[in-house]
Amino acid sequence: MDGPPDGCRGRLLVTETLAKAVLLLGAVGWFVIRYPHQRRARKTPVRKSARDVQEILLLSVSAAGRGIVAFLYILIGVPRFADRPFIPALAWCGALLFAAALWLFYATHRELGRNWSVSLELRHQHTLITRGVYARVRHPMYSAFWLWAIAQALLLPNWVAGSAGILGFGTLFLCRVGREEELMLEAFGERYRDYMRRTARIVPWIY
Ligand code: SAH
Repeated sequence: MDGPPDGCRGRLLVTETLAKAVLLLGAVGWFVIRYPHQRRARKTPVRKSARDVQEILLLSVSAAGRGIVAFLYILIGVPRFADRPFIPALAWCGALLFAAALWLFYATHRELGRNWSVSLELRHQHTLITRGVYARVRHPMYSAFWLWAIAQALLLPNWVAGSAGILGFGTLFLCRVGREEELMLEAFGERYRDYMRRTARIVPWIY
C-alpha cells in the first residue's frame, strides 16, 4: 500500500542507517584522535609496566564489545534473533552522547600528553595530571568510553550488539580501575591520595 505508512517506514530505515553510520564514523573519529598518541607512546620510554595477561585479555574483551560485535551487526546484521525495534529518539540521544565522548577523548588525550598509555604503564618522567578535565574526575577517559558504550546501546536496535560495549568496556573498567589507582598511589603517594579525596572516578561529585 502507498501513502504515509510506507513513507514512515522509509524514513525510519534512513534514520536507522544513519544511526549505524554515526557509530562507525564515531569509531573512526576516536581512532583519528588516538593515533598520534599511540605513535608517540611507542617512542616514550616506560619506567614501570603492569601490562600482563589479564590486561591483554581485558583490552581484547573491550575491543570485541565496542568493535567486532558492533561492526558485525552493522555490516551483516547478526545476531538477528536479538533485533529490537528501532527508536529514533533513543538514537538521537546516542548520537549526542557519542559526540560528547569524542570531545572528551580529545580533551583527555591532549591533557595526558606523554603520560598516556593504552595499558597500565608509568613513563619515564611521568607527571600527575590534575587540571582541565582531570580536575573533577580522575578517569575522564573512562567516562568517555562509558559514553561510547551507552551510545552504542542507544544507536543499535539489537540487544546483543547494543549491550556488547557496556559488557566489554564494563569488564575492563571494573577489573582495571582499582589496579590503576594502586599504580598511581605507588608512584605519587600522598599527592595521588589527596587528588583521590577531591575527585570522583568517572561522574563528577557522584562516583
Ligand atoms: N584512567 C585515566 C587514564 C587512562 S590512560 C582516564 O580515564 O583518564 C591509562 C594510563 O594513564 C595509565 O597507564 C596511567 O599510568 C595513566 N594515568 C592515569 N591517571 C593519570 C593522571 N591523573 N595523570 C597522569 N597519568 C595518569
